[in-house]
Amino acid sequence: MDAKLMAILVCPLCKAKLEPKKNELLCTKCKLAYPIDDGIPVMLIDQARKYEN
Ligand SMILES: [Zn+2]
Repeated sequence: MDAKLMAILVCPLCKAKLEPKKNELLCTKCKLAYPIDDGIPVMLIDQARKYEN
């Protein structure tokens, strides 16, 4: 993923920095994984899934 784009991506819920992992962006603070759809991050809370670690 584009490093420039990554730098501006924060969790819409808690504003923490996101961590890219495979085809998801993980918020390590509120444990939500946002999907990346065709290279476009989907920054919607209702599209995110809860994950454990
Ligand atoms: Zn968060």
